[in-house]
Amino acid sequence: NADAALYKAKAEGRNNYQFYSADLNRASEQRLELETALRHAVERDQLRLVYQPQYRLADGRLVGCEVLARWRHPELGEVPPGEFIPLAEETGQINAIGEWILRRACEQAGAWRQAGLPELTFAVNLSAIQFRRPTLTSEVGEILDQTGLPASQLELELTEGILMREAHNTLETLRLFKGMGIELSIDDFGTGYSNLAYLNRFSVDKLKIDQSFVRGLPNNPNDLAIVQAIIQMAHSLGLTVIAEGVETADQRDVLIENGCDQAQGYWFAKPLEVDEFERLWQSRPDCYGR
Ligand code: C2E
Ligand code: MG
Ligand code: MG
Ligand code: MG
Repeated sequence: NADAALYKAKAEGRNNYQFYSADLNRASEQRLELETALRHAVERDQLRLVYQPQYRLADGRLVGCEVLARWRHPELGEVPPGEFIPLAEETGQINAIGEWILRRACEQAGAWRQAGLPELTFAVNLSAIQFRRPTLTSEVGEILDQTGLPASQLELELTEGILMREAHNTLETLRLFKGMGIELSIDDFGTGYSNLAYLNRFSVDKLKIDQSFVRGLPNNPNDLAIVQAIIQMAHSLGLTVIAEGVETADQRDVLIENGCDQAQGYWFAKPLEVDEFERLWQSRPDCYGR
């Protein structure tokens, strides 16, 4: 972390400051390199998508998946999305990359539909920057047309931040998506602004409980209280609720006890490559091994 390095450098005196400042230069050089490499990632076929299964807790049935982007660079190896997505957002590349992700996800979903895969929903993450584009809804409509995927099989994951900013334009965009029949969910719910009025106004379908609250289950009483409150609120507003980052059977059980509808996480399955996902739905119709 650059600020911490600088602070430490200042505390340790001038000579050290130069040392750390060289470090910072290296960091910004690396960033520039990464940015340039990212520019070619799509055309050089370095991006791919992985699919994390989502299950209905009541009967353990596979009901959908979250689509997650991966970037493998020939020299740098796997660059995590937590690094390249923010970089793509800062440089505006997220528009082209985000469109590629949407198209690729719908193509794959359409292909699996043809192959007889049960009707799963495909949840695609949308960045706030993409959301600002006036052409976003028509782009999505075009992609659905071209891939033949029914809109009801596409879910878009938004962040609380998207909903809080630019309220007017946001309302219109969400209304258009709803009109098309696309599902809308709020990702990382509970970590953003706690103004809940928008839940009603924006007619979303689903809340995703952030994994930071799931992590403390079943023992942390604060996390448990938050998770229970989110589930109750979601249900009283008629929304579906899914927990993300479920890693243990204990966490799963607490969620079941409290009436959570769906879950995803390493306990069920990691994000899977295309062939792994195909093997999973052919061999295991539900996560309780029946
Ligand atoms: P997210 O949308 O909240 O995605 C959930 C993240 O949690 C994923 O990390 C997933 O691999 C990870 N995860 C799933 N189950 C577990 C678990 O049981 N334990 C733990 N510790 N982690 C789990 P990933 O794939 O590294 O993605 C990180 C973030 O990057 C995503 O968070 C999302 O904000 C962003 N991202 C990923 N793909 C895309 C994309 O295609 N478009 C956009 N705009 N953002 C993306
Ligand atoms: Mg997500
Ligand atoms: Mg999430
Ligand atoms: Mg998250």
